[in-house]
Amino acid sequence: MIVSKFGGSSVADADQIRKVKAILESDERRCIAVVSAPGKRNKEDQKITDLLYKCNSLVQKGLTCRPVFNEISKRFVQIAQKLKIDDVKLSERLDDIRCAIDAGRGADYAASRGEYLSALVISEFMGWEFVDAEDVIVINSDSTVNEITYKRLKERLDPTKRYVIPGFYGETEQGVVKTFTRGGSDITGSIVARAIDAELYENWTDVSGVYRADPRIVPNAEVNPELSYKEVRELSDVGATVFHEEAIAPIYNSGIPIVVKNTNRPDDPGTRIVPESNDFGATAVSARSGLSRIKLRKLMLFKKYGMRHALLTMLHVFGIRPCYSLFGIDSIVWFFDSKMASDSVCQAMCERLTKEFGLDSIEVDHGHAILGVVGDGMDSSDAYLKAAEALKENGIKTTFVNYGASDTSVLFGIKEEQAADAVKVVYSKLF
Ligand code: ASP
Repeated sequence: MIVSKFGGSSVADADQIRKVKAILESDERRCIAVVSAPGKRNKEDQKITDLLYKCNSLVQKGLTCRPVFNEISKRFVQIAQKLKIDDVKLSERLDDIRCAIDAGRGADYAASRGEYLSALVISEFMGWEFVDAEDVIVINSDSTVNEITYKRLKERLDPTKRYVIPGFYGETEQGVVKTFTRGGSDITGSIVARAIDAELYENWTDVSGVYRADPRIVPNAEVNPELSYKEVRELSDVGATVFHEEAIAPIYNSGIPIVVKNTNRPDDPGTRIVPESNDFGATAVSARSGLSRIKLRKLMLFKKYGMRHALLTMLHVFGIRPCYSLFGIDSIVWFFDSKMASDSVCQAMCERLTKEFGLDSIEVDHGHAILGVVGDGMDSSDAYLKAAEALKENGIKTTFVNYGASDTSVLFGIKEEQAADAVKVVYSKLF
């Protein structure tokens, strides 16, 4: 049995959905399709999920979501008409959803409706049964999967039948609709693959696999034929967007192979993602921008038992969850996603930390990026030295190096404006 997940671009319009049908029907082992909400049809277009979040923001401001929701309705009705499926029932559903959003059902409910409607349309077009993610997937408050999910899925899914399941959402233990983080349909696909013990989890997208570098930065970048689970997790963490970083967790212990394939070029081999790869050394380079840095100092910090933990807890109070850390004897550096805190929140946090912990200094600055060179066996490869050399030769200053914390990656802190150049020069040095 194969679980096939189709991303937003693969279901963006009727023509794309026809390709999905052809793919699903070309191998009878494909028995469950997990689908995203329609994504962008071209560069200027808007994703349905973004429009749904906009609807919710309007309602938060005391306005009706009607004008934005009309665009959503138009897209779904157009898809239904082109696929020649019942658009009257669909229009009724759209009306109900618009009323529920206007009545204040909240951001998660609103966002989840893109996948819900997409799965309804595709199930009707395919003649496959629709299973609402809300009835089978239970999401914990920290957005991890509740183990009861696997039991529910096993009970609900008959191995002799075919199903379409919406990605991205489920419900809480209290029965409230909840979404994963953006791009979370990849996680749903993994959960379903594990639940039915699939022989393969296919992830269909608009690129022919996971590239060794972002092809928008390195146009001739190669596709990786194979990556390990660990490599994919590390790569997603440093900005590669092809596969959600949390999507490996549900299948980590089951060893189910994943293949990332292109809906528009289904014969391309794609990238296989396997528990362990035989290929050691650097496999890819990527940069994650949009980071801010906190630098703080306090004499004897290291000696003060529990202080690092207390400092971190205080950062959480201000909504900041650092993604990378460096510890010195009297100092700490943390990097975090700049979107987590505005300038005024950062300022309030600095004042509170200084007062509460008697810090000697604390500063926050923005515009940082982390460049990651990823590959199993990184700790015993010379890729680290080569990458550092490439950065130095091209005048790219590093503010942070993390080597050895993981045997699968080496990370360099750089300035955001040099991120693309850094990817280019390191790629050409390594590959
Ligand atoms: N539609 C959601 C998003 O745009 C989830 C997904 O596509 O995986 O983030």
